[in-house]
Amino acid sequence: MNETKRAGETVNQASLSEADIGALRGSIRGSLLTAADPAYDETRQIWNATVDRRPAAILRALGASDVIQAIRFAKDHRLSLAVRGGGHNIAGNAVCDHGLMLDLSCMKSVRVDVSAQRAIVEPGATLADLDRETQAFGLVVPTGINSTTGIAGLTLGGGFGWTTRKFGMTIDNLLSVDLVTADGTLLRASEAENTDLFWAVRGGGGNFGVVTAFEFALHRLGPQVMSGLLVHPLDQAATLLKSYRRLVAEASDELTCWCVMRKAPPLPFIPKEWHGREVLVFALCYAGPMAAAEKAVAPFRALGRPIADAVGPHPFVGWQSAFDPLLTPGARNYWKSHDFVELGDGAIDAVLAGASNLPGPECEIFIAHVGGAMARVKPDATAYPQRQSHFIMNVHTRWRDKGQDEACIGWARKLAGAAAPHAAGSVYVNFMPEDEADRVKLAYGRNHSRLAAIKRRYDPDNLFRLNQNILPG
Ligand SMILES: Cc1cc2nc3c(=O)[nH]c(=O)nc-3n(C[C@H](O)[C@H](O)[C@H](O)COP(=O)(O)OP(=O)(O)OC[C@H]3O[C@@H](n4cnc5c(N)ncnc54)[C@H](O)[C@@H]3O)c2cc1C
Repeated sequence: MNETKRAGETVNQASLSEADIGALRGSIRGSLLTAADPAYDETRQIWNATVDRRPAAILRALGASDVIQAIRFAKDHRLSLAVRGGGHNIAGNAVCDHGLMLDLSCMKSVRVDVSAQRAIVEPGATLADLDRETQAFGLVVPTGINSTTGIAGLTLGGGFGWTTRKFGMTIDNLLSVDLVTADGTLLRASEAENTDLFWAVRGGGGNFGVVTAFEFALHRLGPQVMSGLLVHPLDQAATLLKSYRRLVAEASDELTCWCVMRKAPPLPFIPKEWHGREVLVFALCYAGPMAAAEKAVAPFRALGRPIADAVGPHPFVGWQSAFDPLLTPGARNYWKSHDFVELGDGAIDAVLAGASNLPGPECEIFIAHVGGAMARVKPDATAYPQRQSHFIMNVHTRWRDKGQDEACIGWARKLAGAAAPHAAGSVYVNFMPEDEADRVKLAYGRNHSRLAAIKRRYDPDNLFRLNQNILPG
């Protein structure tokens, strides 16, 4: 997982002299780190600890001019270019061996225009940065469920979470991007300008350039939302999941309920005797008025006999970070994901077989509930095509000891293999580990050939290849 040279990676370390480094350092507003700098090791670390790569240099950008310099330098010196937003991506493409790492994490500003209900967001912002700024005005952009995730990578792959069924995917709320292309040009892409590029960046990942600003539409929500967890014994899951799929089929767009199967963490609201035992958790959120929320969540609360019921009004910002303590950086992680149009009996059986055989206390199976507004966008309206899926499963394998790599990765692959015949065949690019290059075409389906043509136009030499790569058509 940590080979020094990945497919398509250019290794040209020999030609990078002190003079080259000095010239680049002198041309930027931000900072340039090499292995000699004390901050180098900390800066090259990303969320997934299985990724341990050593770039020749790390450029910590402060603005578009630094991004342009990084792109020119990487091209001139034939270096691999890795782009880091929040550093969360499981595949680890935010960092490379030998090449140039362009770290955008210092570019974190979020500017909210309350009267226009729009926000301009820099690419180093996390979901927490965005939520805090927008919620100060009772506004929200639909994003993901873990607040330390970067807005950049999440948006470029699609983006979904608690408010997606009501307000659409993150990309459905993207109004424009400022983006530096492979030739070092800063462009604006929107429904009015560079429309092919705007179509491509809404799901096509980092294949087309480096985004220096995102403009989003905002919606009214909060500050409190009805949300929380219902915890059940895993041995009740077969019956509960069948009731669950009936309830979510009838749910309004405001109601989202995800399922998590794992060993119960030692949370204060879970009785002590259940800590460390297998549980099924329904995690739900009602993205609408509090007056209607109680009635909407009641059928879920009435299912079975929960061990714990922690559903109630919570600040939206708090709910967005509720899972953060279980998803901290520094652990080893491997993911496998499938989309599902329906959660058939076969899919439930496959998932429960895996859940009853978890290889560690931090491993979990997430089933995200999507659809609603997300499903009403046509599959070819943006690069993200899987609008018909109602569930997205993520086998989230997480462990600490390198000696457990084989067992944990093997468990995830086996579970994903067993679930595959019941799945839609497509996959979300943001959940793909680095060994799934063969699934990129499945991820984009009928949109792949259009993406390849746009890639040829804007990045014919595939400078932006450290991603779920779309080859120039
Ligand atoms: C704990 C956890 C929870 C998650 N939950 C959700 C969820 O609820 N919903 C969801 O949709 N996703 C979720 N994800 C997946 C997440 O969307 C992806 O991991 C995403 O790629 C993270 O973006 P990042 O900026 O943090 O990652 P990075 O690793 O920094 O970036 C990922 C890739 O995006 C590209 N990139 C980054 N910034 C730019 C830029 N400015 N311009 C061009 N390309 C760029 C690069 O190719 C880079 O390799 C979750 C991930 C984790 C780890």
